Amino acid sequence: MTLLLKPKRQRRFRSDRRTRALTFSTLAWLKFQFLCHAGPTEVGGFGLSHADEPLFIEDVLVVRQLCTFVSVAFEDLAVADLFDEMADAGIPPSRFARVWLHTHPGASVEPSSVDEATFARVFGACDWSIMAILGRTGRMSARLQFTTGPGAAIALPTRVDWSDWPDLAGSLAERVEAWRQDYAAKIHVPRPKDELPRTPSNGSHQHPLDTLDYFPGDWHAFQ
Ligand SMILES: [Zn+2]
Repeated sequence: MTLLLKPKRQRRFRSDRRTRALTFSTLAWLKFQFLCHAGPTEVGGFGLSHADEPLFIEDVLVVRQLCTFVSVAFEDLAVADLFDEMADAGIPPSRFARVWLHTHPGASVEPSSVDEATFARVFGACDWSIMAILGRTGRMSARLQFTTGPGAAIALPTRVDWSDWPDLAGSLAERVEAWRQDYAAKIHVPRPKDELPRTPSNGSHQHPLDTLDYFPGDWHAFQ
């Protein structure tokens, strides 16, 4: 896992909250795109926010997960390990457990019913959180929700800050290799013949894994 804890240059953030957007660093965006196109399934992760700007995503943190075309299930231990790793690095949950990112292996970037249920269950106790979805045609959706006071949800525009691209372009090959290794180690796609249950005898075509969602059942992002 590559963590960009100390940006080389001081970033400046817009102070006008009316023009706020969910903004990805060059590397976070390229890694998110890599994950979206690396295989045939959805892939999930956590956005690591900049210490001074929660809407600026510095990295996409990936944990071990079981992925299908329509769902992702994070491994319980992998989530716990991420929290331990972040705690050891002095990074609070407000920086890495508020922005939930996942890819869709198609054109749609609309949240599924499972996405909505997961977002409500896992992040519903957070004062703020974001669900963002990247599809394969370059489109992305992002929604910011607040649960304090009367609560609110607003769609966020998304953008990429390419300002450090000239400094990073020369090291892209090694970055991609690191992402490839991360993907190979953590993204598990079950083999249908061995691991997927058969179509139920009642004729239902809903895949049993459709009901899995991204997080352990008793886990909440505010922990
Ligand atoms: Zn989804």
